[in-house]
Amino acid sequence: AKKAGRARSIIFNATLKTAAINTKRLADEILAGLENDEFFAFYQPQITARSHQLAGVEALVRWNHPEHGILSPAAFITTAETIGAIARIDSAVLKHASRQHQIWRENNVNVPRIAVNLSAQRLSDETLIKAIQEHKFEPGVLSFEFVESISFDEPDAKIDEIAEQIRAMGIDIEIDDFGTGYASITSLLSLSPKRLKVDRQLVQPVTTDPRQRRLVGSIVEIGRSLGIEIIAEGVETIEQVEILERLGCDIFQGYLFSKPMPGDQLAQFAQEKPWL
Ligand code: C2E
Ligand code: CA
Ligand code: CA
Ligand code: CA
Repeated sequence: AKKAGRARSIIFNATLKTAAINTKRLADEILAGLENDEFFAFYQPQITARSHQLAGVEALVRWNHPEHGILSPAAFITTAETIGAIARIDSAVLKHASRQHQIWRENNVNVPRIAVNLSAQRLSDETLIKAIQEHKFEPGVLSFEFVESISFDEPDAKIDEIAEQIRAMGIDIEIDDFGTGYASITSLLSLSPKRLKVDRQLVQPVTTDPRQRRLVGSIVEIGRSLGIEIIAEGVETIEQVEILERLGCDIFQGYLFSKPMPGDQLAQFAQEKPWL
């Protein structure tokens, strides 16, 4: 038994070593990718309830990896955060979003709003404001999505101050993935968000589970009472749209309309009304 245990631990150690090498390699590739401008964005449309207009798009980072092709954030975001490269990736996305919006405008494609994901830690990062100012957006076009995190709960003068500066620049704040992770309902007060995005884990079961339906209905009511718009994420079926409209959601986003796509395809999508 002892021998088998030893053999197992050798295998285990070998696996760990491989993982460590891969993380180091991934970290180096991320840094090289930043130098080579390999990070860019796909865009997923958001559709208004009832009138079914294009409300805007969410910019989602992609990595055009020299060997592996286009990679999704799941493949690199955690490592990028660990090595402190996430701010540079977010800046790359801002740059691409700003350029893309300019291109859409030049082609008479009306995209009213672009939402960009920022990691919540950046709300206590004083370099954020400077990073924003490097990229041009028309007033009212840009919004930032922040995932709820513990930091929102703690009274933090710096976060409040940076959030206020963001709003003063005409950028909307949105709470992402509402209802999962750290439930910080107080962020609805402290951050004064313009919108909240109900996570797809809450959205998708509304067709089958009455309790889930009531839960989403209650979130919509809380939002309403505070003047916050509600975006439903991960909408995949027309049945979900019907129920979510009845519950009072304002905006839909999900595969029912489109997966995230390159900017030129989004331009095409924008001309292809109606979407419902
Ligand atoms: P998220 O912000 O919640 O983004 C939504 C994710 O759900 C996207 O995955 C999108 O492709 C996927 N999705 C959209 N509609 C549907 C649907 O109807 N069904 C299903 N099953 N999935 C749907 P993606 O692009 O892989 O992004 C994953 C996460 O990576 C994002 O979750 C966000 O937390 C993070 N992320 C993406 N872009 C950035 C970025 O530029 N900066 C930072 N810091 N994080 C980012
Ligand atoms: Ca998001
Ligand atoms: Ca989300
Ligand atoms: Ca998510």
